[in-house]
Amino acid sequence: MIPDKCSFCKGKLIEGKHEFVVKIGETVLAIRDVDAFICQECGEAYYTPETSRRIDKIMQKFYDSSLRVHPLAA
Ligand SMILES: [Zn+2]
Repeated sequence: MIPDKCSFCKGKLIEGKHEFVVKIGETVLAIRDVDAFICQECGEAYYTPETSRRIDKIMQKFYDSSLRVHPLAA
């Protein structure tokens, strides 16, 4: 469920593309062109459930591949 107003500043949300950035350990993962609703006032981004699922999948893939490439120290 997407609010029609920003829950932080009550600014208006507009549909657009967003760059989702998350820091995982030492690595910064950026996902470009994510569909989002972005607050015109403070820039806070709100994601649709579909987009959240997409981000989850990408992050899961990232975790899986990074674990294979960099095994955890015993
Ligand atoms: Zn806002």
